[in-house]
Amino acid sequence: MSDKNINFPESDFTVVGASFAGSLLASKLARHGKVLLIDKREPGSRLKCGGGVRTREFNRLGLDIPHVKAEKILMSEKGRIISFNSKYAVVDRMEFDAAVFQKALDAGAVFQKAEYLSHEAAKNIMSVRIGEETIEYKYRKLILAKGFHLDPGDRFYGASYVEIVEGSSRHGDALYFDLLQKNVGYCWLFPLPGGRVNIGIGSLSGEPFSREDFRSFKEEQGITGKVICKGGGMIPLVPAMTVMKDSVYLFGDSAGMVFSANGEGIRNIIKMSDIWADCIVKGKNLNIRWITNRTFIRLCASTMVVKAIASTGRFGSRFYNFLSRTAALARSLLK
Ligand SMILES: Cc1cc2nc3c(=O)[nH]c(=O)nc-3n(C[C@H](O)[C@H](O)[C@H](O)COP(=O)(O)OP(=O)(O)OC[C@H]3O[C@@H](n4cnc5c(N)ncnc54)[C@H](O)[C@@H]3O)c2cc1C
Repeated sequence: MSDKNINFPESDFTVVGASFAGSLLASKLARHGKVLLIDKREPGSRLKCGGGVRTREFNRLGLDIPHVKAEKILMSEKGRIISFNSKYAVVDRMEFDAAVFQKALDAGAVFQKAEYLSHEAAKNIMSVRIGEETIEYKYRKLILAKGFHLDPGDRFYGASYVEIVEGSSRHGDALYFDLLQKNVGYCWLFPLPGGRVNIGIGSLSGEPFSREDFRSFKEEQGITGKVICKGGGMIPLVPAMTVMKDSVYLFGDSAGMVFSANGEGIRNIIKMSDIWADCIVKGKNLNIRWITNRTFIRLCASTMVVKAIASTGRFGSRFYNFLSRTAALARSLLK
């Protein structure tokens, strides 16, 4: 290749998507062979989420990055609050992605900024765009961790908006959720290190959330500081049944690894990363390992419940709120 900015070395594993899922998997695969990691964006440059990660899974990463230790969750509906204990680390998602990306580079993965266009499984060839140029590249094993992309027929998915704002949460170190009245979903307010908060809104029923709801939540919570960055996106709510075919694997949001009851994805990605790495390296049947795994079963069960709730139209949000409050109450009583 003539352009010295293009770095497409031969690799054993080609990972598309250098966000959380792709970088984490790349860091594990790099122990077993050469990894090429590509992304159309600079890693760590996009705000995708609330940054709440269960402490148990966060600790497994062994990352030394600033975070807030949250021990309590507050669930509010029309001012009635239920509180229960649950341990989370709250991170700035962009710092988090950048740290996991660095972990992949430290393990030996090579990064190239490029856009994946398509692949031809029969020939193990993928087509990528780098700047103005489109090239074909022969992969051995291809991992698509490029997030969630809505297909024309998709009706059941989540949509979220998030901001990082200067200021503090009036709920201290607790994770605060306010259930929506018109949609299945909630607003959230999380504390972040460095005098900032993460505030957002998410609907979990394939319907758009109301911008007005977000504005009034922000006002209600007294969050008036400078907006440092904005982001958000679509959330997959249905786990993929087939996560490997030929030498192509899906991971992260591309495999629908999100718990549809609350839109949490990072925890599942961390939990599944070792199984994915093991099956990809050793050529084991990942589809069987996935659909018999507890995480998959838990995700499917939650999908069925939330989908059924969402299909009841305007009563859906009431059902969802009732179930969320009941679950929160049970957890508060169990301590
Ligand atoms: C607003 C919001 C709040 C959330 N809050 C939480 C939370 O608090 N806790 C939690 O656990 N989960 C949360 N989630 C879910 C969580 O963000 C996702 O599960 C997680 O980001 C999935 O990571 P990923 O790497 O699979 O995908 P993504 O983060 O979407 O990354 C995909 C990457 O692929 C790249 N890419 C896409 N297409 C191409 C292409 N054609 N070529 C090259 N590169 C490409 C993109 O640039 C991107 O870097 C939230 C989601 C949203 C939207």
